[in-house]
Amino acid sequence: MRAYKSPAPKMQAMTSSYDICIRGGGIVGHTLALLLARDRWRVALVINTPATTAGKDVRAYALNAKSKHLLESVKCWPDALHATAVQRMDVFGDREGRVQFSAANLAVDALTWIVDVEPLEALLSQAARYQPSLDVMSDAVDAPLTVICEGKDSPLRQSLGVSAQTSPYPQRAVAARLRAQQGHGQVARQWFHEGDILALLPTEGALGHEVALVWSLPEQRAHDLQHADADVFAQAVASACAHALGPMTLTSERQSWALQSTMAERWFGRWPQSGSSSDRAWVLAGDAAHTVHPLAGQGLNLGLADALELTDLLRNKAPWRSVADLQLLRRYERSRRTQATATDLTLNGLQKLFAQEHPALQRLRNLGMQGFERMNGLKTWVARQAMGI
Ligand SMILES: Cc1cc2nc3c(=O)[nH]c(=O)nc-3n(C[C@H](O)[C@H](O)[C@H](O)COP(=O)(O)OP(=O)(O)OC[C@H]3O[C@@H](n4cnc5c(N)ncnc54)[C@H](O)[C@@H]3O)c2cc1C
Repeated sequence: MRAYKSPAPKMQAMTSSYDICIRGGGIVGHTLALLLARDRWRVALVINTPATTAGKDVRAYALNAKSKHLLESVKCWPDALHATAVQRMDVFGDREGRVQFSAANLAVDALTWIVDVEPLEALLSQAARYQPSLDVMSDAVDAPLTVICEGKDSPLRQSLGVSAQTSPYPQRAVAARLRAQQGHGQVARQWFHEGDILALLPTEGALGHEVALVWSLPEQRAHDLQHADADVFAQAVASACAHALGPMTLTSERQSWALQSTMAERWFGRWPQSGSSSDRAWVLAGDAAHTVHPLAGQGLNLGLADALELTDLLRNKAPWRSVADLQLLRRYERSRRTQATATDLTLNGLQKLFAQEHPALQRLRNLGMQGFERMNGLKTWVARQAMGI
């Protein structure tokens, strides 16, 4: 992966007031800040620079057409080398089950795009430096509306006393980059095997040989594989994917994430303080509101859709309503919670279905995949939902 240098954030404290303060400078926080600033809201984006410099994120995100249009609209879509268009998706069950999606059959440019995290973050951070009505700062400021984009463990969500329904998965995701002997051919591949879920996502453009791995495994196996010798690890990946791309070499460090499903119980509210602060409100977006299993690459797509919905609501609000209007925020929660819950339930069901060890269930799920493969109408509908169109 070609290294992009992320520019230092503009740390500027302004004395004038802001309409909206965004807490958390992940991809959702940055994108929302750029969208709102483009609509001429005065925006403060609060980022906390980590004390230690962790290694660079080895993941690549599958981003759908809706997310692509959104990021293009703020001029932050990476070049074709760092946003590889997926033309086909092959999903393999643990027996004869197989489902295939193709962009050509669905008459779309691509099923999804596999986007390197670092270049995307660098573009967002650079765009934030040059957006006149946006200030990046290290300390929170007073504003009528605070949008909390601090990720799944959001400290502010917790300090507001907002509980979140959290169910940990008995799995950990190991991510890494590997170079394969055969080119990936713009195909995203995924294997479900006795509860393990292994995805190889194509990167480095149309002719690339590099793939981004996301392998969801039980805790102990994830730990063992993460610390195994590099060659042993690469061989384990090649054999788990039935040598689909030939021999492989590990080209990055390995990183891992505990997996959980999270849904905040409330997504908006008034600040607890009294007096002049009582007309201030907060609202959640991105992983601070919902976290889902990465098996279908939907988490960030959901977060970006939150950003778009909130921006649209604020743009189209009646002039006499404030940005902290609770009715407006209720509409946002209602619409976004519905989609996040539906996605979470589907992914939860899929993860559980493939974790069942009983041979009858194994046979059934693979037969189900075969049946699904033949149902063109349903397949198209599911693919279009995942594409965000
Ligand atoms: C292995 C794996 C693979 C994935 N693959 C995909 C995929 O292919 N496609 C997809 O759509 N999604 C994917 N996801 C999900 C995706 O990573 C998340 O949904 C997305 O990163 C959430 O973005 P966010 O900005 O809401 O939160 P985060 O990325 O968690 O960002 C939160 C930010 O807030 C900052 N912060 C925290 N506390 C504070 C504070 N007190 N003050 C200020 N800042 C604070 C943090 O430092 C961080 O920068 C994957 C997840 C995993 C684990």
